[in-house]
Amino acid sequence: MEMISRSCPLCGSSDTGSVFAEADFELKQLDSFAFASRKMPEYMHYRLIDCPTCDLLYANPLPCEDDLAEGYSEAAYDSGVEAHYAAATYAATLSKFVGRLPDRHGALDIGTGDGAFLECLLEQGFDGVAGVEPSRAPIAAAREDVRPLIREGIFRGGDFAPETLSLVTCFQTLEHLADPLEMARAVRKLLKPGGAAYFICHNRRALSARLLGKKSPIFDIEHLQLFSPKSARYLLEQAGFTDVAVLDIVNRYPLRYWLRLLPLPQDMKRTLIATLDRAGVGAWSLSVPVGNIAVVGFKPVHAGTASDSGRMPGAEP
Ligand SMILES: [Zn+2]
Repeated sequence: MEMISRSCPLCGSSDTGSVFAEADFELKQLDSFAFASRKMPEYMHYRLIDCPTCDLLYANPLPCEDDLAEGYSEAAYDSGVEAHYAAATYAATLSKFVGRLPDRHGALDIGTGDGAFLECLLEQGFDGVAGVEPSRAPIAAAREDVRPLIREGIFRGGDFAPETLSLVTCFQTLEHLADPLEMARAVRKLLKPGGAAYFICHNRRALSARLLGKKSPIFDIEHLQLFSPKSARYLLEQAGFTDVAVLDIVNRYPLRYWLRLLPLPQDMKRTLIATLDRAGVGAWSLSVPVGNIAVVGFKPVHAGTASDSGRMPGAEP
């Protein structure tokens, strides 16, 4: 595996002087499960640089892009139940701004997994719904009527017609992209004027991340960069979005899922999960602000003119 150096993938700063953590991984441990979207954390990560300009934490150096793409297409998948809990949480946040969209015709979900959020979009009355997903296994697990809506592969803006979408979503995927700013700019081109980009990512400045330190599951070999409220806002503003808002996400998941995220030995976690399931409470759900943020921005209606329709409820100033 060839390792390549890079500058900050968000603001382009080449100031790599602030090293958050040195590399901690072994190539032989990069098995297929390390690239699944939700799995047992393994505490491996690349060398992580703290950008002094835009507050992004990014991996540097990285394996070349071909090696990364190979990992995704063959990734194992075991998280259908959790994906549906997450999609319900994200749909609740969508309802806060869905009324501001130009219409409900045309929506794309990048990194859609098994299409759980596409089901939510259809329930909310969207048509022209599509998803993109690089891994085969979750597509195979998609609901029968949703599977044909999912395109297998990496997102490429050129695969879609410009100014045809009202909403583009991308959940828990920004961390995995080689160039998140290029993706955000491509999304802006696909949106109709007034359409929205709605992304969700980990917040590296969240209380949970600060409490767990380098044992936080967000410091992971599959994450090429990690955002904060400041860097998430920077991403959409640099890509030309207006009325950008950052919101905290409160995730609702089964108890057994929360246990998987704890910094405990894997054997202990398996035993605890089995105990909860035997007691019949492993599937009980619990809402916790675990340190995810949503960032929402709108494509200007008139180029260069910000709309004056105000901030969304609950948005940070
Ligand atoms: Zn930067």
